[in-house]
Amino acid sequence: METILLRVKDPKQDISAIQAAASVLRKGGLAAIPTETVYGLAANALDPKAVAKIFQVKNRPADNPLIVHIAELDQLPSLARNIPQAAYDLADAFWPGPLTMILPKQDCIPDIVSAGLDTVAIRFPSHPVASAVIRESGLPIAAPSANLSGSPSPTNARRCVEDLSGKVEVIIDGGDCSVGVESTVITLADNTPRLLRPGFVTLEQLCSVLGNVAVDKAVLYKLEDNTKASSPGMKYKHYAPKAKVILLDGETDAFVQFVNNLEEKDVWALAFGDEAARLNKPFLLIGNTPEEQARNLFERLRELDDKGAKTVYARCPKKTGVGMAVYNRIIRASAFAIQKL
Ligand code: AMP
Ligand code: MG
Repeated sequence: METILLRVKDPKQDISAIQAAASVLRKGGLAAIPTETVYGLAANALDPKAVAKIFQVKNRPADNPLIVHIAELDQLPSLARNIPQAAYDLADAFWPGPLTMILPKQDCIPDIVSAGLDTVAIRFPSHPVASAVIRESGLPIAAPSANLSGSPSPTNARRCVEDLSGKVEVIIDGGDCSVGVESTVITLADNTPRLLRPGFVTLEQLCSVLGNVAVDKAVLYKLEDNTKASSPGMKYKHYAPKAKVILLDGETDAFVQFVNNLEEKDVWALAFGDEAARLNKPFLLIGNTPEEQARNLFERLRELDDKGAKTVYARCPKKTGVGMAVYNRIIRASAFAIQKL
């Protein structure tokens, strides 16, 4: 299949690209589109055959359900049922934006989308290209990240081309994603709201709207083998580059000293920035603030592969605010290899 790459700066001006992607989706095809979190691999959420292509192209495990994306709050009751007031309160505060809510599903949601669960994940993205494509298609859109399963999520169109060229009808290049990590996922399907995946909408922000929010154990810790994951995606090794990543948990000085004393070959450091001038090994920077770290992390992991890094020693992000999202991704990229300094 030939993949068409279309550049969209402003969806109001580049309407033909939006129409092209929407038309692919209406015909049961696949389109990679920018969102504010990461690029998404989109298909008609109500068409099981189209959704099956997403699983096939990504090589995604069939038990890992997809997020359904909407462009109007009015679409919500047609996709989810028993919607609590909490969902509308969260929508008020954070939609459109990088928050996904898990709710009991309506029958129109195919089993392949929910991976057989009786719940569905819904998000209303804020990216102008994503919302223009969804609105133009007139459909709810299932879209996981537009990477091959296991590799770091793409935060620019070049990485989508690398993973998906020849496998999807269209890729829309809408520039770099502003958030850089996938959406926050909260379940409202149980008695207590529970954070399943941290993201740019923080635990602190969720608590300010809902009062109490539980944090699923899998957010910060490795699930024991054989435990059932509330969010199936959390059990997989994820976001991992080919290099072995080791997370170093400690202060700046200890990090610099540890890295500088390493004698291994092809070692790289993944640093924040404040320590860079003192490192005697090659390094890439993800930034000093959690927001910068979120924006840069996945692209840097891919760059480390481009550079042929064999082993990467990474600074450990803080676990609060947006830092919790960065920490959650990097512990999976490192397959939970964390070394205390
Ligand atoms: P991705 O689309 O690749 O960002 O992954 C979607 C994430 O949402 C995965 O971690 C899924 O396990 C999670 N998810 C999607 N639907 C559900 C659901 N119904 N219940 C719990 N987690 C879900
Ligand atoms: Mg993904």
